[in-house]
This record gives sequence, structure tokens and C-alpha cells, in this order.
Amino acid sequence: AISIEKIEKWYGDFQVLSGVSLEVRGGEVVVILGPSGSGKSSLIRCVNGLEPISSGSVRVDGVVVHDRKANLDKLRAEIGFVFQQFNLYPHMTVRANIMLAPMKVRGLSKAEANDLAVEQLTKVGIAEQADKHPAKLSGGQQQRAAIARALAMKPRIMLFDEPTSALDAEMIREVLDVMTDLAQGGMTMIVVTHELAFARKVADTIVYMEAGEIVEVAPPAQFFDAPADPRTSRFLSQII
Ligand code: ATP
Ligand code: MG
Repeated sequence: AISIEKIEKWYGDFQVLSGVSLEVRGGEVVVILGPSGSGKSSLIRCVNGLEPISSGSVRVDGVVVHDRKANLDKLRAEIGFVFQQFNLYPHMTVRANIMLAPMKVRGLSKAEANDLAVEQLTKVGIAEQADKHPAKLSGGQQQRAAIARALAMKPRIMLFDEPTSALDAEMIREVLDVMTDLAQGGMTMIVVTHELAFARKVADTIVYMEAGEIVEVAPPAQFFDAPADPRTSRFLSQII
């Protein structure tokens, strides 16, 4: 579970998060929507301590993320993060990309890490791509490899920041299908996306952000069909 309490965050004299609070239960899928610059990326980067905050708190399974004594390496090993750009190491095969962290961080043997890599690549449907370098894969395959790499660390939480924004239309579907499977398998997920059909179908909760604040938190049906805040209605009328 993730507990975000009244966090404030500044970049110099610009306030990017203004008192944001959010609870995410174990197994819950939260989709964050909002216009460009509203603070979505900044918020999810706070969850695994990639960004400092100036006040408030973030707890992940009881661990206070911004506590100086928090073990951020351990925390990040438990939280998978998938970005818009796939960030695979270009000089390694897909298989080697996935084996790296389980061997270095979790201490798995080469054989164990290889089995794990095959297992995760099979799960995302690209086992046959294991021995290629990332540049030889399609964008959708690269993003699925990035998801497999995150899953190989056996995370308890997955964070996604616009994972399909860099993909062509025909590849978006295959990545969203993998994410849908993960969600249905009970993974705790926070997903920043503009894919509204995915949000409606897969999210338990939709969060709408604007200008560094959470404007609305609601289940998808209520969010899309009967938004409570006029700012949400305005946003939806612009994009649907
Ligand atoms: P997008 O949909 O475009 O990805 P976002 O909702 O993810 O937007 P953020 O990336 O969190 O928004 O950025 C929120 C605001 O903070 C923006 O105005 C951005 O310019 C600013 N910002 C983000 N990162 C930094 C930084 N490192 N230094 C200064 N300002 C930043
Ligand atoms: Mg962003």
C-alpha cells in the first residue's frame, strides 16, 4: 500500500505539488490523468524517492520514503518503474538486460536469472526476442522488454509514466494488454496515461490532477460519466 500525505514540492520558486494526498491499497490500480505540466510525473517519481519533497510524507508499505534512514535501494528494488522511453541498455541483449538487476541486487545465479528472464519474457509475449539487442525490436517489443525487466525484480508495486506515449498506434495495444494482465493478476499499480479506454476498463480509481493539485478521485464510471468537479468536466470535454 502507498500512503501519500499532503506533499509539497518545489522546483526552485515554482511549486509543482501543492498538498497532494492519495491512498493506494494493495492490489489497487490507480490511473492519473491531467494536462501537461500538472505534476503527474513529479508525483509518481516521489513514490520511489526519485524526487525530494519539501513537506508531507510518502509511505510505501509503512516505510517512510523520504526519511534519511530509508533504504532507497531496497525500496526501488521493490517498486518497478516503466518510463515513456524504454531505457534498455543498448549494448546488451534483451536477456542480459533482464538478468542484470536480479543478479546484482537480488544475488541470483546466472542460471536462476536466465530462467527468470525467460519466464518474464514469456509473460510479456516476446520470449523469441531474448537474444536480440534492443535496437532490433519494435517499440512495443522494447517497452514489453522494459516491463519484463521491471517484473524480474519481483516488485510489489509498478509505476508507469506514459508507457505508450512514444509508441505507434498498433503497438500501444500490445503494451496495454500486458498492463491489463498485470492489473488483473493483482499488482498494485499507479499509471500515468492518456489512454482513456484503458483507464476506464482497468483502473479501480482515477485521479485527476491540475496545477499541482488533485482535483478529483473517483471510480472510472463515476469519473467519466458524472465528474464532480467542473475542472474535470472541462478536461474531459477537451479530450473526448
Ligand atoms: P506531462 O504530461 O507533460 O508529462 P506532468 O503532469 O508529468 O506533465 P511534470 O513533469 O511533473 O508534469 O512537471 C510539472 C511542472 O514542473 C512543469 O511545469 C515542469 O516544467 C516543471 N518541472 C518538471 N521537472 C522540473 C525540474 N527538474 N526543474 C524545474 N521544473 C520542472
Ligand atoms: Mg509527465
